[in-house]
Amino acid sequence: MKKRRTDAETLSAALLTIEDQRAWDARAELARAVELEDAALALGDDLLVMRARLCQINMRMRSGDVAAAAEQIWRVHQWAVDNDARQLLARTHLIWHSIHQHLGDAEQALEHALLAVELLDDDSTEHMHVWHRTKLGDALWAAGSVDAARQRHAQAEELAVRTGSPALLCLLNNYAYAEFSYGDQQRAEEIAWRMEHLAREQGEQLQPSFLDTLGAIQNGNGHYAAAEATMLHCIEQHAEGQHEDADALAEYLLTLSQAQRGLAAYDRAQGSLDESRRLCLERDLGETLVRVQQEQAELHAARGEFAAAFAAHKAFFEAHCKLQSLQREARTRTRQAMFETAEARQEAERFREQARRDPLTGLHNRRHVDEVLPGLIRTDPQLTVALVDLDHFKQINDQLSHDVGDQVLVRVAQLLAREVATACPGGFAARMGGEEFLVVLPGTAVPRAHALLDALRRTIRNQHWAPITRHLPVTVSIGVAGLADAPQGAQAPLLSTADGHLYAAKHGGRDRVVSSVQLRDWVGHASAA
Ligand code: GH3
Ligand code: MG
Ligand code: MG
Repeated sequence: MKKRRTDAETLSAALLTIEDQRAWDARAELARAVELEDAALALGDDLLVMRARLCQINMRMRSGDVAAAAEQIWRVHQWAVDNDARQLLARTHLIWHSIHQHLGDAEQALEHALLAVELLDDDSTEHMHVWHRTKLGDALWAAGSVDAARQRHAQAEELAVRTGSPALLCLLNNYAYAEFSYGDQQRAEEIAWRMEHLAREQGEQLQPSFLDTLGAIQNGNGHYAAAEATMLHCIEQHAEGQHEDADALAEYLLTLSQAQRGLAAYDRAQGSLDESRRLCLERDLGETLVRVQQEQAELHAARGEFAAAFAAHKAFFEAHCKLQSLQREARTRTRQAMFETAEARQEAERFREQARRDPLTGLHNRRHVDEVLPGLIRTDPQLTVALVDLDHFKQINDQLSHDVGDQVLVRVAQLLAREVATACPGGFAARMGGEEFLVVLPGTAVPRAHALLDALRRTIRNQHWAPITRHLPVTVSIGVAGLADAPQGAQAPLLSTADGHLYAAKHGGRDRVVSSVQLRDWVGHASAA
């Protein structure tokens, strides 16, 4: 037992390193998360399994398979809701936010980012507090709420500084990039400066992607020499690290080319741009390629080659439109997949529910009883059950019709459901098969249950049955059993005691209730007489 707990703790800590760090190599992390899921399955720990699955979904999305991520996240979300797993739910919403961001749906993305922050509490990790707020800032910015975005980013920064969060660099990168894209170059520069300063203070190298943000901001402020130096350093860093996303190099070369154009070093700029284009074509990087074509037009124009600039601009525009329609198609496909998964889930739930209901009467069936009764037996010492069987039901079928028999079953089922619901909260009636029902009465000891069931018996016999059965009466016999009657505390002996009492009721003349209470009275009565 002790060993198990240690294993679970080790596994949880390993998962936390994936969950709470912005790892760079999504494919390697994906493989690690798969291994951790296997380990969690071997331990039989559902929460750990779900955490490992969510890590995989996140890594799938980050390595470009948004459709697979969108399709799989539902199940983890449902599990987190069903099991009240708040931290898992908060993380699920954060990843859902990113999925929508990738799909270009800023509104949905914002909704999930808000939930990811709302669900934070004292049990959330420090990283979650910082990072979920950062992403909310990103989401607000993408949805066009610049002031609110600024507020969240600033809040996240303040929190990260106060707690010494390792996510601070990453946060500043996102914050600076948001300001840069919004067009506030001065603010962007101030934040980028804080990012550089922090890295220096910590004796850390800025990641290549952060250097790219910095280079872009320097370009935006006309500091082309600094931008070129930054980007040359960035590309050098990229070449050294094996963990870096290889596709990102095309982006870095593009930023470098822009800096070189600013410096009027047109040949160098063309060289960098050609290299970027080559990578785009080799790796099928449509989005970057479009921006390479746009930069090509700018470069021709800067050189005074206006005919070439016009041709390049035209090519850019065509590529831009084509890319947009490709992205739209991809988005539609993914949305469709998400929708179909949601529908399939609802369908499965409907089916699950249907499989636990009796189609004729709408009452629960034996399968439902088998599912819930063991739990009630374990937790409720005052539990009482009763088998209710219609008397001479065969006569109704034979003398009237099977159809009339069905109508009687439906009416009896309605009466049972109504009476049990009013008399015993949490109680229910189920159809066990044929003309036999089970009434389950939690928190009701046998003497009270007996009285209650006898009232039920009278209600049934006193119904105005004539419109359905004409001259034939409808009565029931009832056999009652409480947990005290089934000392082993299991379902089978409990039901078999009830069945024995039902048999006694039939033999005693039908239209009656038999329980251990009443049997004791009989025995007492007989010995007194
Ligand atoms: P007893 O008082 O001893 O219980 O007599 P009974 O006639 O009620 O019992 P028996 O077990 O002999 O007959 C039960 C009948 O219930 C036989 C079967 O055809 C009928 N029955 C079972 N399921 C249905 C159903 O879904 N609809 C109808 N109409 N009849 C059903
Ligand atoms: Mg019967
Ligand atoms: Mg029967």
